[in-house]
Amino acid sequence: MWIDLRSDTVTQPTDEMRQAMASAEVGDDVYGDDPTVNRLEEIAADLLGKESALFVPSGTFGNQLAIMTHTHSGDEILVGEDSHILMHEVGAAAKLSGVQTRSFPMDIATDKLKKMIRDDDIHVPRTGLICVENALSDGRVIPLSTMKTVYALAKKQSIPIHLDGARIFNAAVSLDIMASEIASCADSVNVCLSKGLCAPIGSVLVGTCDFIAKARKNRKLMGGGLRQAGILAAAGIIALNEMVTRLTDDHKNARYLADRLEEIESCRVYRDRLDINMVFFTLSESVISDSALISGLHEAGIKISGKEDGEYRFVTHCGVSAENIDTVIQAMKNIIANHS
Ligand SMILES: *Cc1c(COP(=O)(O)O)cnc(C)c1O
Repeated sequence: MWIDLRSDTVTQPTDEMRQAMASAEVGDDVYGDDPTVNRLEEIAADLLGKESALFVPSGTFGNQLAIMTHTHSGDEILVGEDSHILMHEVGAAAKLSGVQTRSFPMDIATDKLKKMIRDDDIHVPRTGLICVENALSDGRVIPLSTMKTVYALAKKQSIPIHLDGARIFNAAVSLDIMASEIASCADSVNVCLSKGLCAPIGSVLVGTCDFIAKARKNRKLMGGGLRQAGILAAAGIIALNEMVTRLTDDHKNARYLADRLEEIESCRVYRDRLDINMVFFTLSESVISDSALISGLHEAGIKISGKEDGEYRFVTHCGVSAENIDTVIQAMKNIIANHS
C-alpha cells in the first residue's frame, strides 16, 4: 500500500460507501426521480443552512456553474489572486460564462475590496459576483469575522457572494464552528465530497430555491444532467453524515507531520498556514534536490508532489496514519543521509 501525500483527492471510498453504492435505490435524476440524489441534496442543504442543493460531478463544475448562474456575459467577477477558480479551473469563467476576472489579495482587506467594486460608469464592467474561498488552498482558514464583513459589504452593494467551500468542513472543524455558520456568509457554496470526505466523485452546490432551479438548467447546458446518479450520491450521503468529524484526525496528523518535519535539517514549515490537513514547507536544494526526494520516496512506497513555487505540500487524509508519518520521516532522513 502506497503512502500518498499528494492530495486528499486520492482518498478511496470506504467499505460502507461501496456497500451503499451497490444497493442504492436509483432513478432518472434528470426527471428528479432519483431518491438517493434527492436525499443527498436535502442533507447538504440542511447541513449548510440553505434552501436547496444540487449534485454536480466536480468542484470545478460546481464553481463554474455558480459563476454562470450568478452572472451575465460581460460582467466582472472578483476572485482571490491564488484562488482555485482563478488558478486551477482552466480559465473556464472566461470561456463558459464570458466574464472578466479581477483578483484581490487572499488576505481579504475589505477596504481594498470595496474599492474594487465598480461604479455605474459607461467605461466599466458591472461587478457581477465576488468569489471567496474557505478553507484556502494555501492551508489557511479565513476567520468567520472576515467572512461576515465581506458578506455585509457585498449585500450593501447587492452583489452576490459565491463561496468555494471545497474544504468548508475542514474550515469548520478548524474554527470549531458549524459549516452552516460559514455558509451563512455566502449566497451559494460549493462543497467537495471527494476530498477529505472520501466519496469517489462529486460536489454539491447549495443556495436559494430560485438559484438552484436556475443552476439545474445550467447544469444541463454544461452537460452535467446525470441519470441514475444515486449510485454516486449514496457515497456522498455517507461522506456528509459520517466522514466530517474524523477530519480532526487529519488536522492533528498534519500538525504531527509538521513537528516531525522540523527534525530534518533546513526544513522550514510554514506554521502560519497549518490550519487544516496541509503542511507547506521548504527544503534547501543543497540538502536534497526535488527530483532526488521524489524518486527516493517513491522507492520507499511514498508518493509526493514536487515543489510548487519553491514549496512542498504534504496532505494528510483518511489513508495517512501517525505511523505512516513516522515512516515518511524516517525515509526522508535516510534519503538525505545517503545522498550527501
Ligand atoms: C479541489 C478544489 C476545487 C475543485 O475540485 P475538483 O473536484 O478537483 O474539480 C475547487 N476549489 C478548491 C479550493 C479545491 O481545493
